[in-house]
Formats: sequence, structure tokens, C-alpha cells
Amino acid sequence: MKTVAQVFTAGIEAGLQLRLSRVARQELEAVTAIMESTSLTDASDTRCNDLFCKDGTLSTAALYNLTMSATDPGCSFFTFIWKNRAPSKVQFFGWLMVQERVQCKANLLKKSIVDNDTCEVCANAREDTNHIFFQCSFACEFWRTIGVDPSNAFAAEPWNLAWPATTPLTHRSTFALLCFWQVWKHRNGVVFREEAPSLQQLVQRCRDEARAWRCRFKREDESVCNSCLYLLLWGKRQEALHCPPKDAENDKEQQLPVQI
Ligand SMILES: [Zn+2]
Repeated sequence: MKTVAQVFTAGIEAGLQLRLSRVARQELEAVTAIMESTSLTDASDTRCNDLFCKDGTLSTAALYNLTMSATDPGCSFFTFIWKNRAPSKVQFFGWLMVQERVQCKANLLKKSIVDNDTCEVCANAREDTNHIFFQCSFACEFWRTIGVDPSNAFAAEPWNLAWPATTPLTHRSTFALLCFWQVWKHRNGVVFREEAPSLQQLVQRCRDEARAWRCRFKREDESVCNSCLYLLLWGKRQEALHCPPKDAENDKEQQLPVQI
């Protein structure tokens, strides 16, 4: 590790690896210009950084806020993906989804990893990100089962999904990520474990996951989580009922579409 004085004496180019890229050459010119206009003294070092606390230590909170200010609200999906109660692995999956970078067959075909890009759930279309989550006949049936219209939905803008008016706005992105995550896991079951597509099973898994995520909410938000669970229990029926009966979760007569 060299000191600043040693670099000034030897010259900055002595410590660089050739060949420099175009950007590196531009940066070298900028640094050289700064060095030429700078003279070192024997005085003690003075460290200057806006992220330092008064005692001279680095504040990670300031660093975090600076990083966040660079992306929020500049990034269209920042709030939807990161400001919710979903587990971090599901948030990361959502981050890939909105950028259409999930390992769908269309993306794998581009990398020559698979021989075709046909959807293995419906076997009827090219499997890209939008197809998996909104255009596949299976996915469409799932969304309609829980009362969501997938007609004009896009994976890159999941916040525009047309939820029933009765669905609470609070934590809606958490619930949406839960559904996307389960649709993706169901798709993987079909592709990798040769499971038969099952709408009933998918809804059941969403319901189980929603129950498991209850502990992720603050006590005052439990009603929101319950609303999401009711949506999974009844789907469109909730719109007509507005208020589900007390034994909602024990309703043995819930009508889910048959397996497709
Ligand atoms: Zn399909």
C-alpha cells in the first residue's frame, strides 16, 4: 500500500496496468490534472467526507441514504420491489422479474441452454417472462380465480395489476410478490419435477404462504393480511360479499376451478 506522497513522487502511471481502456485513459487525464494543481505539505492529514460523523467515523446510515437517494424515486420499480414485507429472496426474485431476467425458456434459448422456448405449462406458446406470469392460459386462470384481471398486465409493471377494489392498498405489493413467487415455483415444479399443472394446488400454496407470512406484518396490519387470505379463499366471491363470514378459513365448500 503506497501513501499519497509516494504516488506523487513516483507518478501515478507507475502503478497502473497497461493497456488502459478508453475510460481509464480519460480518468487518468482527470487525476493527472488534479495532481498537477496540488502540492503536498508536511502538515497532518485532514480527512474530508460528507458521510463522516462529527467524531470522524464513517456513518453507514448516511452511506445507505445516499445510495437510496440515487435510485428512489428515479427507479420505477424501487418502491414496489423493496418497500414491502416479502422475504428478501422473494424481493430479489421480483427484482429479476420486473427486468424480465428470470430464467424463462426464451432467455435460456438465447444462451443456447435449451433447444426450444415453448412453455411447458400450456405447451402452446413462447415462454418469456410476460407469458409465465400473465399470458399463459394457466396464469390467466389463476389471476381470475383470485379476482384479478390479467388482460393488460406486464411483468415490467406489476404495480399496475388490476386488483379488486376490495383489496387493501396497504401491502398490496407484498401480496403480489407472494403470488408471483408461487406462480414461478409452480412453473418450476412442472418443468423440473414433471408435476402436472394444478390451479387448486397453486392457490393452496399461495394460501399457505400467506399464512406463513402473517408474522412478517405488524400487529396493526393483520387485517390487511387477512384480507389477502380471504382473496385467496374466495377470489371473485369476495367482491360480492365484501365481508367474509367468521369461519372463512374453515370453509370446506370453497369452489376452486378444477385442475387444468
Ligand atoms: Zn404457457
